[in-house]
Amino acid sequence: MRMICTCHIVPKDVLERLAGDKKLSAELRRGAADSARVTDGMRTLRTQNGELTRLAQASGAHLVELAAAPKVTVYDCKHSQTLPGMPVPGAKTSTDATAKRCFAETTGVAKFYQAVFGRNSIDNAGMTMMSSIHFGKGYNNAMWNGTQMVYGDGDGKLFVDFTKGDDVIGHELTHGVTQHSLQLAYSGDAGGLNESMSDCFGSMFRQWSAKQDAKAADWLIGADIMGPTAKAKGFKALRNMAKPDDKAALAPQPTKYSQVTPGMDPHYSSGPPNLAFCTACLTLGGKSWERIGQVWYAALTTSGAQPHMTMPQFAARTRQLATQKYPAQAAVAAAVDAGWKKVGL
Ligand SMILES: [Zn+2]
Repeated sequence: MRMICTCHIVPKDVLERLAGDKKLSAELRRGAADSARVTDGMRTLRTQNGELTRLAQASGAHLVELAAAPKVTVYDCKHSQTLPGMPVPGAKTSTDATAKRCFAETTGVAKFYQAVFGRNSIDNAGMTMMSSIHFGKGYNNAMWNGTQMVYGDGDGKLFVDFTKGDDVIGHELTHGVTQHSLQLAYSGDAGGLNESMSDCFGSMFRQWSAKQDAKAADWLIGADIMGPTAKAKGFKALRNMAKPDDKAALAPQPTKYSQVTPGMDPHYSSGPPNLAFCTACLTLGGKSWERIGQVWYAALTTSGAQPHMTMPQFAARTRQLATQKYPAQAAVAAAVDAGWKKVGL
């Protein structure tokens, strides 16, 4: 189970907690329980897909560029759980708002990776970016299953249509990028780093789309997929990168590396590296993707396959790259250092 990539945006335990919340209606609780079960059932598929990528890279399989820019395709599951579903012709101008949005945002992520990092799709070889929408009935999650994106509509109360979160789309597709670069495992320190990569690049995509600098950014993950019932309960997002232990987050996280324990769900152990990245960006100022983001991208894509990388190793690598990439700008390395110091590394 080395390359598990549990790439759901909503952690399973959050769904289980909602399923057991007696203050919610029986229908909502049942929906949350169903979503948790499907979330769990995808594990085998993701593991196998990740393993195939690992084997291909380990055997030195030649990476052939498939296309100069990725094709973006959208499929409609029509509320079934059959993947990929029916193709949506002309998704770009579809009358289905979800299909249209999914196409626009996925195209946006492709442009973000191309324009900001010079990356050609998930695998850097023009891989088609495939998404399935309307997965299941009121399914409360979104995921990267190792080869494609899958989006539920949400139950409309706890969560709304998962394609509404640009950070969610950026987060999930980044799991694919990690699968094709650092190949981080999904447990231990590496698991927390894997989740954090997705939050960092998901948030950067959100900021890049809004042309925001680090100070103007909300640094929230999943703010736009929270439904009215979740909001009424005081929840504003899934996670808060600037304040991982925020009680208004559905899944509050540790803030210090010393609080990360063995066996911790990666959606929680990602708190310290998220805070380190956010702190580095705020310390340096300006746009997150212009310098700190470049350091993180280089750490993700120029370190080879390191499935068991620890957080101290990743911190050391970013410190090294900050100096290498910006030798004449000491403020970059200082900001990266301040970020890691904030979380005790
Ligand atoms: Zn994830």
